[in-house]
Amino acid sequence: MATNKTPGKWRKRTIGVRGGTMRSPFQETSEALFITSGYAYENSEEAEARFKGEIPGYQYSRYANPTVTMFEERMAMLEGAPLAQATATGMAAVSAALLSALNAGDHIVAAKAMFGSCLNVVTDILPRFGVSHTLVDGGDVSAWQAAIKPNTRMFFLETPSNPTLSIVDLRAVAKVAGDAGITLVVDNAFASPILQRPLEFGAHVSVHSSTKYIDGQGRALGGVVCCTEEFYKKYLQTWIRNTGPSISPFTAWLHLKSLETLDMRMRQHCENAAKVADFLAGQRKVTRVLYPFRADHPQHNLARAQMEAGGGIVAFEIEGGKKAAYKLSNALGIIDISNNLGDAKSIITHPETTTHSKLTPEARAELGVTSGLLRLSVGLEDADDLCEDLEQAIKAA
Ligand SMILES: *Cc1c(COP(=O)(O)O)cnc(C)c1O
Repeated sequence: MATNKTPGKWRKRTIGVRGGTMRSPFQETSEALFITSGYAYENSEEAEARFKGEIPGYQYSRYANPTVTMFEERMAMLEGAPLAQATATGMAAVSAALLSALNAGDHIVAAKAMFGSCLNVVTDILPRFGVSHTLVDGGDVSAWQAAIKPNTRMFFLETPSNPTLSIVDLRAVAKVAGDAGITLVVDNAFASPILQRPLEFGAHVSVHSSTKYIDGQGRALGGVVCCTEEFYKKYLQTWIRNTGPSISPFTAWLHLKSLETLDMRMRQHCENAAKVADFLAGQRKVTRVLYPFRADHPQHNLARAQMEAGGGIVAFEIEGGKKAAYKLSNALGIIDISNNLGDAKSIITHPETTTHSKLTPEARAELGVTSGLLRLSVGLEDADDLCEDLEQAIKAA
């Protein structure tokens, strides 16, 4: 865990480059990678005092590590959160946020449109520990209100959602949660802290898969929980220390260095995605384009109110169902078929048969995951090359 030491002091680009930097006695300009599990004490008295928390200092890398601290502090500053805790994966961040705070007998309300593994945690894992759930249409604020039971302790949502990019009104849902004393946890992986800061709208916890835009180059898995001091002290701290979902210092270092370019990269992802979305909308065989900042997105006003740009993901539907979707994907020359996202390399996914294949056909239909739907994570290549690649592939479909 690292706290946000200079709240509100710098703009995001400066934070991304310099936030949280600590220098060793060698005065290195690039942040050091501390590959160490333990830390030596001058004497036994010092060991005792560090364990008691009477003096600062590291004890063991399951709890904290200097490279990890730098990454966490930079993330807390970017997110505008009091503190951040890094984890080994995005799912470790999600499960730590949920499992640390919920008890047997509690109830959670979650949006239906969610990353597959998040949905699995809510609907399959939490019930085994006595936590019940209600799934709601995240875009319907009254549905959140109506789902509250006397034992509701948490709201959990993702915005924009995977893969159909629906938007949840963060301020409105945070108000419903806040009025009822419910903790709001937001999965902020699709937006990144550059485009959206859920805590500013009243969320208590914002979780990230740093595997995605934060790494940005498809190299290493990681996650971050950004939260209030109260959430950390009450729930997260003992969970992290004792269950051990700790991030490797090497990954923390990769992600820390990636934050230096996150703002620039996000801007380019968004510019490219907007261009690709407009191009796709002009194609006769494309029956639907979903992009949060396009005027034809049903919630584009809401997206503009809570996000700084439309993000790097475009979803679109090709006429001819699965067969056409496969033909299109297979004909692509630049864009890769893969299920990751937020990479510098553009990636296309057929959600029905991959990321959302475990859902029932009814659940897929409700989310708008049709046979012809493709999710495109628009990378950092030249947008004109991407449009040309798509154009020839659409012809092949
Ligand atoms: C990828 C992703 C996750 C899971 O993160 P991992 O790093 O793969 O564990 C959770 N939520 C969203 C929205 C994601 O895109």
